[in-house]
Amino acid sequence: MTNEHPHTQTVPGVAAGYGDLLSECAEGPGVWIHVPARTIVVCVLLRDQPVRYDAHWVGGRVRPCPGATQCALCTSGVGKKTRYVYTVLDTTTKQTGLLEVAPSTALEIRAAVDEAGFARGLAIAFSHEGGVKNGRLRATSRHQILRDCELPDGPDPIHVLKRQWSLPDAERVPSYR
Ligand SMILES: [Zn+2]
Repeated sequence: MTNEHPHTQTVPGVAAGYGDLLSECAEGPGVWIHVPARTIVVCVLLRDQPVRYDAHWVGGRVRPCPGATQCALCTSGVGKKTRYVYTVLDTTTKQTGLLEVAPSTALEIRAAVDEAGFARGLAIAFSHEGGVKNGRLRATSRHQILRDCELPDGPDPIHVLKRQWSLPDAERVPSYR
């Protein structure tokens, strides 16, 4: 079931959480790279694969989904969305960070990676369609490559997500590949 509900839907008896923990993340809130409106942000991919997770947006907050069979929100019929998290180097700020995108953007990144034959070192330009912040994030290959030896490793998405969601180290991120 992937029926999507408005972000504002709330579930009685479910306390708010997760989002408040962002500032407690070891890497800090700055680890997330955002693409401003009317701006092209060129990022170099640093890992071969993104991390994928499913989550519910309830009351404006993100709740990771542990899987439909053991999730109270799924049982309550709250829709969920899939997100992909990439470890990247922002070529403008020269900072490493994480970029989170929707599946349609991830498909465009995948196409660029397939065309290039690899991911790490590939430069991708990101911009919002229509130049507005809530426009779909578009990813296009810059057909530029940075040599592997010149690249940092960047933050680990799973580590950051666990900290952000306050999961113990032993717990795995709900779903990823
Ligand atoms: Zn769920």
